[in-house]
Amino acid sequence: MKKLLVVVDMQNDFISGSLGTKEAEAIVSNVKKKIEEYEAAGDEIVFTLDTHEDNYLETQEGKNLPVKHCIRGTDGWEIDDRLKEFQGKRFEKVTFGSMTLGEYAAEKEFESIELAGLCTDICVISNAMIIKAAVPETPVIVDASCCAGVSPESHENALNAMKVCQIKVI
Ligand SMILES: [Zn+2]
Repeated sequence: MKKLLVVVDMQNDFISGSLGTKEAEAIVSNVKKKIEEYEAAGDEIVFTLDTHEDNYLETQEGKNLPVKHCIRGTDGWEIDDRLKEFQGKRFEKVTFGSMTLGEYAAEKEFESIELAGLCTDICVISNAMIIKAAVPETPVIVDASCCAGVSPESHENALNAMKVCQIKVI
């Protein structure tokens, strides 16, 4: 049985663009190393892409966070240059979590599912919870050194919340 690595929203807008942080920039090389490890072991890697349209500001998310980001087809929407060459299924999602990703995890059986990427406190935690619900018997892992939050404090809060929900934080 293969292991699955889910690389969450490692897109320019969350690293160097409209919602970028220095903490996000600091994890790119760790995430790259993690992808290479999975690739070398013959395990599977998938990527999620936060994907909004021109009407972003009129959506629920846009009303609560009026900062345009990850508009389909823009440079900010693209996966970071250091990571975009890696092969793997892409899951576009219009909100924080991807139901399609949860269904995919349930259809294919994995030995374990690990998440890495951005942001710990929004999209990593949302997808970790969806996966946990989809495959309750599969260990779900989050490597803290491969994630960053909107702020360092909310990164820590999210890691603690995930631990309580039996997601293994390493
Ligand atoms: Zn978004």
